[in-house]
Amino acid sequence: METGRLIVLTGPSGVGKGTLLRSLLQRHPELYFSISVTTRSPRPGEMDGKDYYFISRSDFEEMVKAEKFLEWAEYAGNYYGTPRLQVEEHIARGESVILEIELEGARQIGKTFPDALRIFILPPSLPELEQRIRRRGTDSEEAISRRLSRAGDELAAATEFDIQIINDDLENTIHRIEAALFTYNPPFPVGET
Ligand code: ADP
Ligand code: 5GP
Repeated sequence: METGRLIVLTGPSGVGKGTLLRSLLQRHPELYFSISVTTRSPRPGEMDGKDYYFISRSDFEEMVKAEKFLEWAEYAGNYYGTPRLQVEEHIARGESVILEIELEGARQIGKTFPDALRIFILPPSLPELEQRIRRRGTDSEEAISRRLSRAGDELAAATEFDIQIINDDLENTIHRIEAALFTYNPPFPVGET
């Protein structure tokens, strides 16, 4: 059986990854979103098992020791990781799996899954990135400055990725991601007899 693809969506916090992903999953229910594990506290409206699995630092460290993560990283004072088993099962079943992760984790996936399609989402500008984080209204001033101070380094890494897409107009961006997912490196030869 054809194995599924691993797709990585990365880019600085506030660039719109979560928003883009929600739209993509609505339009393409065949994509499986890997729910990450984190030690961050839930934001209002976030649900355990839907947005993330929220666990303690000590439980996270146990999972690291037991090699339960495909990749993991510390970001803005919290741990985040992709549970290995679920992703491997879905890929083995031929399904495409999409990860929404930060830079360090995306780099790890580049090494362990060189066939993964890794997409970097860029903001139209740094001031617009800050506006988006503020408009989201979910982060403390301290969390905002940690995220912004990380953004410069993250943006400098954009060219390490297979595809770079600027999230200006949301609808346009979704179409560009769809084009990347469904035409880039197609699993079957196109137009061959
Ligand atoms: P991330 O998951 O990358 O941290 P979010 O998806 O939470 O980012 O988006 C951050 C904020 O930016 C949200 O308020 C979202 O509604 C807004 N946003 C996302 N994409 C766009 C866009 N193309 N234009 C304007 N605002 C956007
Ligand atoms: P947030 O706290 O805004 O939900 O996420 C902060 C950052 O962690 C975002 O850039 C998000 O993409 C990233 N992230 C979420 N889950 C994971 C994960 O499993 N692994 C890694 N490395 N990063 C993640």
